Amino acid sequence: MSGCVEIVARCSCCGKKETYSMSEAESRVYLEYLKYGRELGYIQDLFPDVPAWIRSGGIDQYSNGFCICPDCCG
Ligand SMILES: [Zn+2]
Repeated sequence: MSGCVEIVARCSCCGKKETYSMSEAESRVYLEYLKYGRELGYIQDLFPDVPAWIRSGGIDQYSNGFCICPDCCG
């Protein structure tokens, strides 16, 4: 077991669902983030490699899962 975290984001506009598998390093940061929230820092700094819309839909505790996929942005 690697203990890697998978996060799921669902576009609030079209409903498209995307899964992102975190690396072990990212997973560790994610578990810390669940504990400490924004005290840990901004999620764009904590997870620079996760696509922005997946970050806000799948990680951000304050967005209520709201996110817009790249298809709907453009
Ligand atoms: Zn969309």
